Amino acid sequence: MKIAIEGCAHGELERIYDTIACIEKESNTKIDLLLCCGDFQSTRNLEDLQTMAVPKKYLDICTFYKYYSGECVAPVLTIFIGGNHEASNYLQELPYGGWVAPNIYYLGYAGVVNVNGVRIAGISGIFKGHDFLRGHHEFPPYTESTCRSVYHVRQLEVFRLKQLSGKVDIFLSHDWPTGIYEYGNKAQLLRKKPYFAADMESGQLGSRPLEELLKAVQPTYWFAAHLHCKFAALVPHNGSKAPTKVGDCASSSSSSSESEDEEGTRGSRLPPKPVAVTKFLALDKCLPRRAFLQVLDIPSEAIAGNPPTFEYDAEWLAILQSTNHLISVKENYYYLPGKKAGAITERFNFTPTEEELSSLTAKFQSLKIPENFQRTVPAFDPQEHSNYKHSVVGQPKAHLNPQSNTFCAALGVDDPLCLALLANGKDLPAVAIADVEQKPEETIQVQVEEPIDESASSPPPTEPLVTPSKRKLNLSLPAPTVTAEKDDNVIDLPEEDEEVETAEPTIEAEAVEETPPAPSSPPSVKKLKRRNQNIYQAEDDD
Ligand code: 5GP
Ligand code: MN
Repeated sequence: MKIAIEGCAHGELERIYDTIACIEKESNTKIDLLLCCGDFQSTRNLEDLQTMAVPKKYLDICTFYKYYSGECVAPVLTIFIGGNHEASNYLQELPYGGWVAPNIYYLGYAGVVNVNGVRIAGISGIFKGHDFLRGHHEFPPYTESTCRSVYHVRQLEVFRLKQLSGKVDIFLSHDWPTGIYEYGNKAQLLRKKPYFAADMESGQLGSRPLEELLKAVQPTYWFAAHLHCKFAALVPHNGSKAPTKVGDCASSSSSSSESEDEEGTRGSRLPPKPVAVTKFLALDKCLPRRAFLQVLDIPSEAIAGNPPTFEYDAEWLAILQSTNHLISVKENYYYLPGKKAGAITERFNFTPTEEELSSLTAKFQSLKIPENFQRTVPAFDPQEHSNYKHSVVGQPKAHLNPQSNTFCAALGVDDPLCLALLANGKDLPAVAIADVEQKPEETIQVQVEEPIDESASSPPPTEPLVTPSKRKLNLSLPAPTVTAEKDDNVIDLPEEDEEVETAEPTIEAEAVEETPPAPSSPPSVKKLKRRNQNIYQAEDDD
Protein backbone atom coordinates (compact mmCIF):
# COMPACT_ATOMS: atom_id res chain seq x y z
CA MET A 1 0.00 0.00 0.00
CA LYS A 2 1.31 3.44 -0.91
CA ILE A 3 1.21 5.77 2.07
CA ALA A 4 1.98 9.48 1.94
CA ILE A 5 3.25 10.98 5.17
CA GLU A 6 2.94 14.67 5.90
CA GLY A 7 4.77 16.60 8.62
CA CYS A 8 2.85 19.57 10.02
CA ALA A 9 -0.14 20.25 7.79
CA HIS A 10 -0.88 23.76 9.15
CA GLY A 11 -4.25 23.83 7.41
CA GLU A 12 -2.74 23.51 3.93
CA LEU A 13 -4.90 20.62 2.83
CA GLU A 14 -5.43 21.86 -0.72
CA ARG A 15 -1.69 22.15 -1.26
CA ILE A 16 -1.06 18.71 0.23
CA TYR A 17 -3.70 17.01 -1.93
CA ASP A 18 -2.40 18.86 -5.00
CA THR A 19 1.09 17.58 -4.23
CA ILE A 20 -0.25 14.06 -3.90
CA ALA A 21 -2.03 14.40 -7.24
CA CYS A 22 1.25 15.52 -8.84
CA ILE A 23 3.14 12.57 -7.38
CA GLU A 24 0.44 10.19 -8.57
CA LYS A 25 0.58 11.64 -12.05
CA GLU A 26 4.36 11.73 -12.30
CA SER A 27 4.92 8.25 -10.97
CA ASN A 28 1.75 6.74 -12.36
CA THR A 29 0.74 5.36 -8.98
CA LYS A 30 -2.21 5.64 -6.67
CA ILE A 31 -1.66 6.78 -3.11
CA ASP A 32 -3.93 4.83 -0.79
CA LEU A 33 -3.56 6.71 2.45
CA LEU A 34 -2.33 10.05 3.79
CA LEU A 35 -1.01 10.30 7.36
CA CYS A 36 -0.58 13.75 8.92
CA CYS A 37 1.54 14.23 12.02
CA GLY A 38 -0.27 17.12 13.68
CA ASP A 39 -0.74 20.87 13.55
CA PHE A 40 -3.56 19.91 11.24
CA GLN A 41 -5.75 22.94 11.98
CA SER A 42 -9.18 21.49 11.34
CA THR A 43 -10.88 24.85 11.83
CA ARG A 44 -14.42 24.69 10.47
CA ASN A 45 -15.28 28.34 11.02
CA LEU A 46 -14.17 31.52 12.76
CA GLU A 47 -15.28 30.36 16.20
CA ASP A 48 -13.08 27.26 15.93
CA LEU A 49 -10.22 29.50 14.91
CA GLN A 50 -10.41 31.31 18.26
CA THR A 51 -9.59 28.07 20.10
CA MET A 52 -6.29 27.62 18.30
CA ALA A 53 -3.24 28.48 20.36
CA VAL A 54 -1.39 30.90 18.12
CA PRO A 55 -0.69 34.65 18.20
CA LYS A 56 -3.74 36.49 16.86
CA LYS A 57 -1.98 37.78 13.77
CA TYR A 58 -1.39 34.18 12.62
CA LEU A 59 -5.04 33.18 12.87
CA ASP A 60 -5.78 32.01 9.36
CA ILE A 61 -8.79 29.92 8.38
CA CYS A 62 -6.71 28.13 5.68
CA THR A 63 -8.45 25.46 3.61
CA PHE A 64 -9.81 22.76 5.90
CA TYR A 65 -13.28 24.37 5.99
CA LYS A 66 -13.74 23.56 2.30
CA TYR A 67 -13.46 19.85 3.08
CA TYR A 68 -15.79 20.27 6.03
CA SER A 69 -18.44 22.16 4.07
CA GLY A 70 -18.40 19.74 1.16
CA GLU A 71 -16.99 22.27 -1.32
CA CYS A 72 -13.99 19.95 -1.71
CA VAL A 73 -13.66 16.25 -1.00
CA ALA A 74 -10.50 14.68 0.38
CA PRO A 75 -9.30 12.52 -2.54
CA VAL A 76 -7.55 10.01 -0.29
CA LEU A 77 -8.30 8.55 3.14
CA THR A 78 -6.54 10.93 5.51
CA ILE A 79 -5.68 10.09 9.12
CA PHE A 80 -4.22 12.65 11.47
CA ILE A 81 -3.20 13.23 15.04
CA GLY A 82 -3.31 16.56 16.85
CA GLY A 83 -0.35 18.83 17.50
CA ASN A 84 -0.11 22.15 19.30
CA HIS A 85 -2.02 24.26 16.75
CA GLU A 86 -5.47 22.82 16.42
CA ALA A 87 -9.17 23.56 16.50
CA SER A 88 -9.02 22.24 20.04
CA ASN A 89 -12.76 22.51 20.60
CA TYR A 90 -13.45 20.31 17.56
CA LEU A 91 -10.83 17.72 18.48
CA GLN A 92 -12.16 17.59 22.03
CA GLU A 93 -15.51 16.49 20.61
CA LEU A 94 -13.79 13.36 19.30
CA PRO A 95 -11.65 12.06 22.18
CA TYR A 96 -11.65 8.51 20.78
CA GLY A 97 -11.28 9.65 17.20
CA GLY A 98 -13.74 10.25 14.42
CA TRP A 99 -14.40 11.95 11.11
CA VAL A 100 -13.75 15.69 11.01
CA ALA A 101 -14.82 15.77 7.36
CA PRO A 102 -15.66 13.09 4.80
CA ASN A 103 -12.57 10.88 4.33
CA ILE A 104 -10.59 12.79 7.00
CA TYR A 105 -10.24 10.92 10.28
CA TYR A 106 -8.81 12.17 13.57
CA LEU A 107 -7.20 9.48 15.71
CA GLY A 108 -8.26 10.99 19.06
CA TYR A 109 -6.14 11.78 22.12
CA ALA A 110 -4.59 8.44 21.26
CA GLY A 111 -5.82 5.74 18.96
CA VAL A 112 -5.12 2.59 17.01
CA VAL A 113 -6.75 1.68 13.70
CA ASN A 114 -6.11 -0.77 10.89
CA VAL A 115 -6.02 0.24 7.23
CA ASN A 116 -5.84 -2.72 4.85
CA GLY A 117 -4.36 -4.66 7.76
CA VAL A 118 -1.66 -2.05 8.48
CA ARG A 119 -1.85 -1.28 12.19
CA ILE A 120 -1.50 2.43 12.89
CA ALA A 121 -1.21 3.86 16.39
CA GLY A 122 -0.80 7.47 17.36
CA ILE A 123 -0.91 10.04 20.10
CA SER A 124 -1.92 13.70 19.85
CA GLY A 125 -0.40 16.76 21.46
CA ILE A 126 2.95 17.78 22.86
CA PHE A 127 4.54 16.98 26.21
CA LYS A 128 4.71 19.49 29.03
CA GLY A 129 5.72 17.97 32.34
CA HIS A 130 3.48 20.24 34.39
CA ASP A 131 0.30 18.94 32.73
CA PHE A 132 1.20 15.29 32.19
CA LEU A 133 -0.33 13.97 35.42
CA ARG A 134 -3.56 15.97 35.21
CA GLY A 135 -6.92 14.78 34.02
CA HIS A 136 -8.60 16.04 30.85
CA HIS A 137 -10.14 18.99 32.67
CA GLU A 138 -10.37 21.45 29.78
CA PHE A 139 -13.46 22.42 27.81
CA PRO A 140 -14.40 25.37 25.62
CA PRO A 141 -14.62 28.28 25.90
CA TYR A 142 -10.98 28.07 27.01
CA THR A 143 -9.04 30.35 29.30
CA GLU A 144 -5.56 31.61 28.45
CA SER A 145 -4.26 28.61 30.33
CA THR A 146 -6.61 25.84 29.16
CA CYS A 147 -6.33 26.84 25.51
CA ARG A 148 -2.73 25.60 25.79
CA SER A 149 -2.98 22.81 28.31
CA VAL A 150 -5.76 21.17 26.27
CA TYR A 151 -3.19 19.85 23.77
CA HIS A 152 -0.65 18.69 26.34
CA VAL A 153 -0.17 14.93 26.42
CA ARG A 154 -1.64 13.12 29.45
CA GLN A 155 -0.34 10.05 31.19
CA LEU A 156 -3.55 8.11 30.55
CA GLU A 157 -3.00 7.98 26.80
CA VAL A 158 0.64 6.96 27.22
CA PHE A 159 -0.39 4.30 29.75
CA ARG A 160 -3.02 2.96 27.40
CA LEU A 161 -0.67 2.76 24.43
CA LYS A 162 1.87 0.93 26.56
CA GLN A 163 -0.63 -1.88 27.05
CA LEU A 164 -0.54 -2.81 23.35
CA SER A 165 0.97 -6.23 22.87
CA GLY A 166 0.64 -6.99 19.18
CA LYS A 167 2.84 -5.67 16.41
CA VAL A 168 2.37 -2.03 15.50
CA ASP A 169 3.33 -1.12 11.94
CA ILE A 170 3.16 2.65 12.17
CA PHE A 171 3.23 5.06 15.09
CA LEU A 172 2.35 8.75 14.69
CA SER A 173 3.37 11.54 17.01
CA HIS A 174 3.66 15.29 16.64
CA ASP A 175 6.87 15.81 18.62
CA TRP A 176 9.94 13.56 18.41
CA PRO A 177 10.93 11.02 21.04
CA THR A 178 13.84 12.37 23.13
CA GLY A 179 17.17 10.91 22.11
CA ILE A 180 16.02 9.98 18.61
CA TYR A 181 18.74 12.16 17.07
CA GLU A 182 21.36 9.72 18.42
CA TYR A 183 20.17 7.17 15.84
CA GLY A 184 20.49 9.32 12.74
CA ASN A 185 22.76 11.94 11.26
CA LYS A 186 22.96 14.21 14.29
CA ALA A 187 25.75 16.35 12.83
CA GLN A 188 23.70 17.14 9.75
CA LEU A 189 20.66 17.90 11.89
CA LEU A 190 22.72 20.32 13.95
CA ARG A 191 23.98 22.01 10.82
CA LYS A 192 20.38 22.66 9.81
CA LYS A 193 19.17 23.48 13.31
CA PRO A 194 22.17 24.62 15.40
CA TYR A 195 19.90 25.97 18.12
CA PHE A 196 18.83 22.38 18.95
CA ALA A 197 22.25 21.76 20.52
CA ALA A 198 21.45 23.21 23.94
CA ASP A 199 18.19 21.27 24.22
CA MET A 200 19.91 18.06 23.09
CA GLU A 201 22.50 18.47 25.80
CA SER A 202 19.93 19.04 28.50
CA GLY A 203 17.73 16.20 27.22
CA GLN A 204 14.95 18.67 26.47
CA LEU A 205 14.65 18.15 22.74
CA GLY A 206 11.58 16.04 22.15
CA SER A 207 9.24 14.17 24.44
CA ARG A 208 10.23 11.69 27.13
CA PRO A 209 6.91 9.79 27.14
CA LEU A 210 7.39 9.28 23.40
CA GLU A 211 10.84 7.77 24.01
CA GLU A 212 9.23 5.37 26.46
CA LEU A 213 6.54 4.51 23.93
CA LEU A 214 9.16 3.93 21.24
CA LYS A 215 10.88 1.38 23.48
CA ALA A 216 7.64 -0.18 24.63
CA VAL A 217 5.74 -0.38 21.34
CA GLN A 218 8.70 -0.86 18.97
CA PRO A 219 6.73 -0.03 15.83
CA THR A 220 8.19 -0.77 12.43
CA TYR A 221 7.80 2.88 11.41
CA TRP A 222 7.51 6.04 13.48
CA PHE A 223 6.50 9.31 11.83
CA ALA A 224 6.71 12.72 13.50
CA ALA A 225 6.77 16.46 12.76
CA HIS A 226 6.87 19.61 14.95
CA LEU A 227 10.62 20.36 14.72
CA HIS A 228 10.18 21.53 11.14
CA CYS A 229 12.89 19.56 9.40
CA LYS A 230 13.33 16.23 7.73
CA PHE A 231 15.24 13.73 9.82
CA ALA A 232 15.55 9.95 9.52
CA ALA A 233 16.84 7.50 12.11
CA LEU A 234 17.07 3.74 12.63
CA VAL A 235 16.44 2.65 16.20
CA PRO A 236 17.48 -0.92 17.07
CA HIS A 237 15.60 -2.64 19.88
CA ASN A 238 17.04 -5.31 22.06
CA GLY A 239 14.45 -7.83 20.96
CA SER A 240 12.18 -7.87 23.97
CA LYS A 241 9.69 -5.11 24.40
CA ALA A 242 10.48 -2.88 27.34
CA PRO A 243 8.47 -3.77 30.42
CA THR A 244 5.24 -2.02 29.72
CA LYS A 245 3.00 -3.79 32.14
CA VAL A 246 3.88 -1.66 35.11
CA GLY A 247 2.14 1.22 33.49
CA ASP A 248 4.32 3.76 35.18
CA CYS A 249 5.48 6.20 32.60
CA ALA A 250 8.62 6.87 34.61
CA SER A 251 9.86 3.30 34.19
CA SER A 252 11.56 2.58 30.92
CA SER A 253 14.26 0.08 31.70
CA SER A 254 15.01 -2.70 29.29
CA SER A 255 15.82 -6.34 29.86
CA SER A 256 18.27 -7.48 27.27
CA SER A 257 19.68 -10.58 28.91
CA GLU A 258 16.18 -11.94 29.44
CA SER A 259 15.39 -11.63 25.78
CA GLU A 260 18.56 -13.31 24.73
CA ASP A 261 17.64 -16.28 26.88
CA GLU A 262 14.11 -16.37 25.57
CA GLU A 263 15.24 -16.29 22.02
CA GLY A 264 17.84 -18.95 22.61
CA THR A 265 20.59 -16.97 20.99
CA ARG A 266 23.03 -16.95 23.85
CA GLY A 267 25.44 -19.86 23.68
CA SER A 268 23.60 -21.33 20.73
CA ARG A 269 24.96 -21.95 17.27
CA LEU A 270 21.88 -20.62 15.63
CA PRO A 271 22.39 -17.30 13.92
CA PRO A 272 21.07 -14.47 16.09
CA LYS A 273 17.56 -13.35 15.30
CA PRO A 274 17.39 -10.09 13.40
CA VAL A 275 17.13 -7.18 15.75
CA ALA A 276 13.84 -5.31 15.67
CA VAL A 277 14.33 -1.87 14.25
CA THR A 278 12.10 1.19 14.17
CA LYS A 279 12.48 3.33 11.08
CA PHE A 280 11.93 6.88 12.24
CA LEU A 281 11.11 9.70 9.88
CA ALA A 282 10.31 13.29 10.76
CA LEU A 283 9.08 15.67 8.08
CA ASP A 284 8.93 19.41 7.70
CA LYS A 285 5.88 21.64 7.57
CA CYS A 286 3.93 22.24 4.40
CA LEU A 287 5.83 25.06 2.70
CA PRO A 288 7.25 25.37 -0.80
CA ARG A 289 10.67 23.75 -1.26
CA ARG A 290 10.48 22.03 2.12
CA ALA A 291 10.55 18.27 2.67
CA PHE A 292 7.01 17.99 3.99
CA LEU A 293 5.74 14.91 2.19
CA GLN A 294 7.15 11.42 1.72
CA VAL A 295 5.60 8.42 0.02
CA LEU A 296 6.37 4.92 1.27
CA ASP A 297 5.29 1.54 0.03
CA ILE A 298 4.30 -0.44 3.08
CA PRO A 299 3.33 -4.12 2.95
CA SER A 300 -0.39 -4.55 3.53
CA GLU A 301 -3.22 -6.93 2.88
CA ALA A 302 -4.19 -7.08 -0.75
CA ILE A 303 -6.03 -3.90 -1.60
CA ALA A 304 -9.47 -5.05 -2.60
CA GLY A 305 -10.44 -1.70 -3.96
CA ASN A 306 -10.79 1.89 -3.17
CA PRO A 307 -11.43 3.05 -0.47
CA PRO A 308 -9.26 0.79 1.66
CA THR A 309 -10.64 -1.24 4.53
CA PHE A 310 -10.62 0.90 7.62
CA GLU A 311 -11.18 -0.75 10.98
CA TYR A 312 -11.02 -0.24 14.70
CA ASP A 313 -8.36 -2.21 16.52
CA ALA A 314 -9.79 -4.90 18.80
CA GLU A 315 -6.93 -4.80 21.30
CA TRP A 316 -7.18 -1.02 21.55
CA LEU A 317 -10.95 -1.10 22.08
CA ALA A 318 -10.47 -3.67 24.84
CA ILE A 319 -7.89 -1.40 26.47
CA LEU A 320 -10.20 1.62 26.26
CA GLN A 321 -12.91 -0.43 27.88
CA SER A 322 -10.85 -1.90 30.69
CA THR A 323 -9.15 1.41 31.54
CA ASN A 324 -12.29 3.54 31.39
CA HIS A 325 -12.33 3.87 35.18
CA LEU A 326 -8.90 5.53 34.99
CA ILE A 327 -10.23 8.62 33.20
CA SER A 328 -9.98 11.75 35.28
CA VAL A 329 -11.29 15.16 34.37
CA LYS A 330 -9.82 16.88 37.39
CA GLU A 331 -7.12 19.45 37.11
CA ASN A 332 -5.12 18.03 39.98
CA TYR A 333 -2.41 15.43 39.53
CA TYR A 334 -3.39 11.81 39.89
CA TYR A 335 -1.57 8.54 39.58
CA LEU A 336 -2.29 5.49 37.53
CA PRO A 337 -2.00 2.02 39.01
CA GLY A 338 1.45 0.51 39.08
CA LYS A 339 3.25 -2.42 40.60
CA LYS A 340 4.01 -1.34 44.12
CA ALA A 341 6.83 -3.08 45.91
CA GLY A 342 5.41 -5.96 47.86
CA ALA A 343 1.72 -5.36 47.38
CA ILE A 344 -0.46 -5.31 44.33
CA THR A 345 -3.65 -3.61 45.30
CA GLU A 346 -5.35 -3.20 41.96
CA ARG A 347 -4.99 -4.19 38.38
CA PHE A 348 -2.15 -2.44 36.65
CA ASN A 349 -1.68 -4.56 33.55
CA PHE A 350 -4.38 -3.87 30.99
CA THR A 351 -2.97 -5.79 28.08
CA PRO A 352 -6.20 -7.57 27.18
CA THR A 353 -6.64 -11.15 28.32
CA GLU A 354 -7.96 -13.75 25.87
CA GLU A 355 -11.36 -13.44 27.53
CA GLU A 356 -11.44 -9.67 27.21
CA LEU A 357 -10.50 -9.87 23.56
CA SER A 358 -13.00 -12.55 22.73
CA SER A 359 -15.79 -10.77 24.59
CA LEU A 360 -14.99 -7.65 22.66
CA THR A 361 -14.89 -9.35 19.29
CA ALA A 362 -18.14 -11.15 20.12
CA LYS A 363 -19.74 -7.78 20.83
CA PHE A 364 -18.40 -6.08 17.72
CA GLN A 365 -19.23 -8.37 14.86
CA SER A 366 -17.62 -5.93 12.52
CA LEU A 367 -14.78 -3.61 13.39
CA LYS A 368 -15.36 -1.49 10.32
CA ILE A 369 -15.25 2.18 11.22
CA PRO A 370 -18.66 3.62 10.34
CA GLU A 371 -18.75 6.44 7.82
CA ASN A 372 -20.86 8.57 10.11
CA PHE A 373 -19.48 12.06 9.61
CA GLN A 374 -22.00 14.79 10.31
CA ARG A 375 -21.65 18.54 10.20
CA THR A 376 -22.45 19.90 13.62
CA VAL A 377 -21.74 23.62 13.10
CA PRO A 378 -21.96 25.89 10.05
CA ALA A 379 -18.87 26.05 7.88
CA PHE A 380 -16.90 29.25 7.26
CA ASP A 381 -18.40 31.33 4.49
CA PRO A 382 -15.64 33.25 2.67
CA GLN A 383 -18.12 35.65 1.09
CA GLU A 384 -19.80 36.57 4.32
CA HIS A 385 -16.49 36.92 6.16
CA SER A 386 -14.13 38.17 3.47
CA ASN A 387 -12.54 40.56 5.94
CA TYR A 388 -12.53 38.22 8.93
CA LYS A 389 -9.03 39.07 10.11
CA HIS A 390 -10.36 42.39 11.32
CA SER A 391 -13.47 41.08 12.99
CA VAL A 392 -13.84 40.16 16.61
CA VAL A 393 -15.20 36.68 17.16
CA GLY A 394 -15.80 34.94 20.46
CA GLN A 395 -14.89 31.40 21.38
CA PRO A 396 -17.49 28.69 20.88
CA LYS A 397 -19.24 26.81 23.65
CA ALA A 398 -18.70 23.08 23.98
CA HIS A 399 -20.54 20.84 21.56
CA LEU A 400 -21.04 17.13 21.86
CA ASN A 401 -20.47 15.14 18.74
CA PRO A 402 -22.87 12.38 17.65
CA GLN A 403 -19.93 10.22 16.56
CA SER A 404 -18.53 10.14 20.08
CA ASN A 405 -21.97 9.58 21.47
CA THR A 406 -22.39 6.52 19.27
CA PHE A 407 -18.90 5.22 19.98
CA CYS A 408 -19.16 5.62 23.75
CA ALA A 409 -22.56 3.97 23.84
CA ALA A 410 -21.40 1.04 21.73
CA LEU A 411 -18.20 0.42 23.68
CA GLY A 412 -19.53 1.38 27.08
CA VAL A 413 -16.97 4.08 27.80
CA ASP A 414 -17.23 7.65 28.99
CA ASP A 415 -16.76 10.77 26.91
CA PRO A 416 -14.18 12.86 28.82
CA LEU A 417 -15.69 16.09 27.47
CA CYS A 418 -19.09 15.17 28.95
CA LEU A 419 -17.40 14.37 32.24
CA ALA A 420 -15.47 17.63 32.29
CA LEU A 421 -18.62 19.66 31.61
CA LEU A 422 -20.58 17.84 34.28
CA ALA A 423 -17.75 18.08 36.77
CA ASN A 424 -17.80 21.82 36.32
CA GLY A 425 -21.53 22.15 36.78
CA LYS A 426 -22.29 22.83 33.13
CA ASP A 427 -25.39 21.62 31.40
CA LEU A 428 -24.69 19.09 28.74
CA PRO A 429 -25.46 20.52 25.32
CA ALA A 430 -27.69 18.44 23.09
CA VAL A 431 -25.84 16.54 20.41
CA ALA A 432 -25.89 19.01 17.59
CA ILE A 433 -26.35 18.49 13.89
CA ALA A 434 -25.98 21.44 11.55
CA ASP A 435 -27.45 19.92 8.41
CA VAL A 436 -31.13 19.40 8.78
CA GLU A 437 -31.41 18.51 5.14
CA GLN A 438 -28.67 16.13 4.14
CA LYS A 439 -27.72 15.54 0.58
CA PRO A 440 -28.44 11.92 -0.40
CA GLU A 441 -24.80 10.89 -0.52
CA GLU A 442 -24.31 12.30 2.94
CA THR A 443 -27.16 10.40 4.56
CA ILE A 444 -25.98 9.26 7.92
CA GLN A 445 -25.26 5.58 7.78
CA VAL A 446 -24.39 3.90 11.00
CA GLN A 447 -22.60 0.61 10.69
CA VAL A 448 -24.90 -1.82 12.39
CA GLU A 449 -24.70 -5.57 12.37
CA GLU A 450 -27.52 -8.02 12.94
CA PRO A 451 -27.79 -8.96 16.58
CA ILE A 452 -26.35 -12.38 17.39
CA ASP A 453 -29.49 -13.34 19.23
CA GLU A 454 -31.85 -14.26 16.42
CA SER A 455 -34.76 -14.35 18.80
CA ALA A 456 -34.22 -10.76 19.86
CA SER A 457 -37.55 -9.05 19.58
CA SER A 458 -36.25 -5.61 18.68
CA PRO A 459 -35.92 -5.11 14.93
CA PRO A 460 -32.39 -4.91 13.57
CA PRO A 461 -31.46 -1.25 13.79
CA THR A 462 -31.10 -0.64 10.10
CA GLU A 463 -33.18 2.52 9.86
CA PRO A 464 -31.32 5.75 9.38
CA LEU A 465 -30.74 7.79 12.46
CA VAL A 466 -33.61 9.72 13.93
CA THR A 467 -34.06 13.11 12.38
CA PRO A 468 -31.69 15.71 13.77
CA SER A 469 -34.41 17.70 15.47
CA LYS A 470 -35.44 14.69 17.55
CA ARG A 471 -31.94 13.69 18.52
CA LYS A 472 -31.00 13.99 22.10
CA LEU A 473 -28.05 13.00 24.13
CA ASN A 474 -27.78 9.30 24.49
CA LEU A 475 -26.20 9.19 27.89
CA SER A 476 -27.74 7.81 30.99
CA LEU A 477 -26.17 8.50 34.28
CA PRO A 478 -27.78 6.50 37.07
CA ALA A 479 -28.44 7.92 40.49
CA PRO A 480 -26.13 6.54 43.14
CA THR A 481 -26.95 3.00 44.07
CA VAL A 482 -26.86 1.68 47.58
CA THR A 483 -25.77 -1.78 46.63
CA ALA A 484 -22.72 -1.63 44.45
CA GLU A 485 -22.98 -3.85 41.43
CA LYS A 486 -20.11 -6.19 40.88
CA ASP A 487 -18.42 -5.52 37.62
CA ASP A 488 -15.13 -7.01 36.61
CA ASN A 489 -14.18 -3.82 34.88
CA VAL A 490 -14.64 -1.76 37.95
CA ILE A 491 -11.66 -1.48 40.15
CA ASP A 492 -11.84 -0.23 43.68
CA LEU A 493 -11.30 3.42 44.14
CA PRO A 494 -7.93 4.76 44.94
CA GLU A 495 -8.02 6.22 48.39
CA GLU A 496 -8.37 9.84 47.36
CA ASP A 497 -11.52 8.97 45.48
CA GLU A 498 -13.23 6.97 48.22
CA GLU A 499 -16.56 8.44 49.05
CA VAL A 500 -19.38 7.68 51.40
CA GLU A 501 -22.65 6.60 49.87
CA THR A 502 -25.04 9.45 49.49
CA ALA A 503 -28.70 9.40 48.81
CA GLU A 504 -28.52 12.59 46.82
CA PRO A 505 -28.83 12.16 43.12
CA THR A 506 -25.83 13.30 41.17
CA ILE A 507 -26.38 14.50 37.66
CA GLU A 508 -28.95 13.09 35.37
CA ALA A 509 -28.64 13.53 31.69
CA GLU A 510 -31.66 14.69 29.80
CA ALA A 511 -34.13 12.35 28.22
CA VAL A 512 -32.58 9.64 26.19
CA GLU A 513 -33.58 8.70 22.75
CA GLU A 514 -31.84 5.55 21.69
CA THR A 515 -29.50 5.91 18.76
CA PRO A 516 -28.40 2.76 16.98
CA PRO A 517 -24.88 1.98 18.08
CA ALA A 518 -22.07 1.96 15.59
CA PRO A 519 -20.70 -1.50 15.15
CA SER A 520 -22.66 -3.65 17.56
CA SER A 521 -26.02 -4.77 18.71
CA PRO A 522 -27.71 -3.04 21.63
CA PRO A 523 -25.58 -0.28 23.04
CA SER A 524 -24.06 -1.11 26.33
CA VAL A 525 -24.09 2.24 27.98
CA LYS A 526 -21.50 2.39 30.69
CA LYS A 527 -23.11 2.15 34.07
CA LEU A 528 -21.33 4.70 36.13
CA LYS A 529 -20.12 3.34 39.38
CA ARG A 530 -19.56 5.31 42.49
CA ARG A 531 -16.07 6.17 41.44
CA ASN A 532 -17.26 7.80 38.28
CA GLN A 533 -20.16 9.53 39.91
CA ASN A 534 -17.67 11.08 42.20
CA ILE A 535 -15.90 12.46 39.18
CA TYR A 536 -19.14 13.98 37.93
CA GLN A 537 -19.86 15.90 41.05
CA ALA A 538 -19.37 19.57 40.64
CA GLU A 539 -17.59 20.26 43.87
CA ASP A 540 -13.86 20.06 43.74
CA ASP A 541 -12.39 17.86 46.40
CA ASP A 542 -8.77 18.75 45.78
P1 5GP B 1 5.08 25.16 16.03
O1 5GP B 1 4.93 25.15 14.54
O2 5GP B 1 4.56 23.92 16.66
O3 5GP B 1 4.57 26.40 16.68
O4 5GP B 1 6.60 25.25 16.39
C1 5GP B 1 7.54 24.43 15.96
C2 5GP B 1 8.83 25.21 15.97
O5 5GP B 1 9.37 25.21 17.29
C3 5GP B 1 9.85 24.57 15.07
O6 5GP B 1 10.56 25.57 14.40
C4 5GP B 1 10.74 23.82 16.01
O7 5GP B 1 12.02 23.74 15.50
C5 5GP B 1 10.65 24.59 17.28
N1 5GP B 1 10.71 23.70 18.45
C6 5GP B 1 9.74 22.87 18.87
N2 5GP B 1 10.14 22.19 19.96
C7 5GP B 1 11.39 22.62 20.22
C8 5GP B 1 12.36 22.29 21.25
O8 5GP B 1 12.12 21.45 22.12
N3 5GP B 1 13.54 22.94 21.20
C9 5GP B 1 13.84 23.87 20.23
N4 5GP B 1 15.02 24.45 20.24
N5 5GP B 1 12.96 24.19 19.27
C10 5GP B 1 11.76 23.57 19.26
MN1 MN C 1 3.92 21.96 16.35
